[in-house]
Amino acid sequence: MMTGEEYIESLRLQQKEVYFMGQRVENVVDHPAMRPHINSAAVTYRLATDPEYNDLASATSHLTGRKINRWTHVPQNQEDLVKKAMMLRAAGQITGTCFQRCVGMDGLITLYSVTWEMDQKLGTDYHERFKTFLIETQDHDYMTDGAMTDPKGDRSKRPSDQHDPDLYVRVVEKREEGIIVRGAKMHQTGAINSHQILVMPGTAMTPADADYAVSFAVPADAPGLIYVFGRQVNDSRKWEGTIDQGNPTYGVVGGEAMIIFDDVFVPWERVFMCGETEFAGTLVERFASYHRQNYGACKSGNLDVLIGAAVAVADMHGVAKAGHVKDKLAEMAHLVETMYSGALACSYHCSSFGCGTAFVDPVLANASKYNTARYYPEVTRLAQDIAGGFIATLPSEQELENPRVASFIHKYYKTGENVDPIDRIKMGRLIENMTGSTPIVECMHGAGSPQAQRVVIQRLIRWQDKRKLAEEIVREEQEESAWKPSNC
Ligand SMILES: Cc1cc2nc3c(=O)[nH]c(=O)nc-3n(C[C@H](O)[C@H](O)[C@H](O)COP(=O)(O)OP(=O)(O)OC[C@H]3O[C@@H](n4cnc5c(N)ncnc54)[C@H](O)[C@@H]3O)c2cc1C
Repeated sequence: MMTGEEYIESLRLQQKEVYFMGQRVENVVDHPAMRPHINSAAVTYRLATDPEYNDLASATSHLTGRKINRWTHVPQNQEDLVKKAMMLRAAGQITGTCFQRCVGMDGLITLYSVTWEMDQKLGTDYHERFKTFLIETQDHDYMTDGAMTDPKGDRSKRPSDQHDPDLYVRVVEKREEGIIVRGAKMHQTGAINSHQILVMPGTAMTPADADYAVSFAVPADAPGLIYVFGRQVNDSRKWEGTIDQGNPTYGVVGGEAMIIFDDVFVPWERVFMCGETEFAGTLVERFASYHRQNYGACKSGNLDVLIGAAVAVADMHGVAKAGHVKDKLAEMAHLVETMYSGALACSYHCSSFGCGTAFVDPVLANASKYNTARYYPEVTRLAQDIAGGFIATLPSEQELENPRVASFIHKYYKTGENVDPIDRIKMGRLIENMTGSTPIVECMHGAGSPQAQRVVIQRLIRWQDKRKLAEEIVREEQEESAWKPSNC
């Protein structure tokens, strides 16, 4: 297993083609827009080698028996699934933001069972290929970018019906040694700081979409891969200073990028699906359940930080004992624990596939993600309520050194004898950062928009069983009412 520092240094060995603000970025590791996200991903390495956390963040490979980082592990039982959720909450508490490694982890977990099922049904040899890839990933402790979301064009049309055939990643050529792929994947969390890209189809497919039913892995600096790093609200603060960033070490969300596949070559040994359209939907749905398990865990960890910031500011403002503030903090904690309980429940209520991989309860996992999309914004609303307007109107940190106004800022932002105004400003910036638009959009659309969870719930709930329960009750009630006391 790599340490956090070794992970960061390992990224220097790759020559990726990355663009940001119109410029090619030669040194991703030290770029101020990217470094906080890299620090956050490094926490997934740090925890696995930290005595306090390594029971959660490391595991034993079921393939090699070697100790590996849990972010590369395929869960074998209930304990593995529960530890996955606990690990994510812990990492969320430490970083206060996204640590990016779980999309790839869930891609690895999902492809393990889907390739096994494809081989069972179709006589292909994807699973053996995938196992070789997985062992390499575990032994080198690679960070994997999970690339599922296509540009999608007109959402009402199938991949093969789009006005432009490249709006979903597709195979444009098959050669003896491998395939050539073209297209793009959008919103890729941690892409610029991953070692490899694991591509999966993003939707269920019909036989007409065979070229789009493709899954494969490539090194993150493979020729033809182009990264366009996304902008975030207030991102220029990353190169303007420290305090105004709010979370200067770990940043906001995952530093997402668009990945362009400009006719990329993939050798056959790294191809895990190629034309098997009937398995695309299974893959997407299974991945979604594993990934939705996470949201109730990592986001509750993030919100623990936000609750802590609200407690600190309430104290600095002298309102910590006010009944409505205590009430609001309790409401925040209740929502956060509700999110987390969903992540734990779907882990405890698990099943397993024929290949031995443990699977979360999909209804509970989807309900947990749905709760996260609803509750995260509610918790941020309450944090803003408690914090007050200063989180939206603070002066820049440069003013703290401005000889004309610095003393006034210290004077007027100081709320009590024992309050350091700089501490208050830092807490305010943290709350501003965590309650801004980017994390809320992530909770809404990351792992699929809320409607995607409703669709799964609608489909998996056994409505007729529930109806029968009601009919039973009514029937018993009728029998009950037919009964008359014998003495009247
Ligand atoms: C911060 C962040 C990080 C992310 N990280 C990753 C990542 O690492 N890897 C990855 O692969 N993806 C990632 N995603 C992508 C995420 O999974 C998608 O944003 C999500 O699936 C929604 O897709 P979309 O953004 O294209 O929105 P859309 O699909 O356009 O959805 C917008 C709205 O349209 C509705 N809609 C969509 N299609 C239809 C339809 N056919 N009929 C009716 N209504 C429809 C949706 O329900 C929703 O209400 C990330 C997203 C965010 C915001």
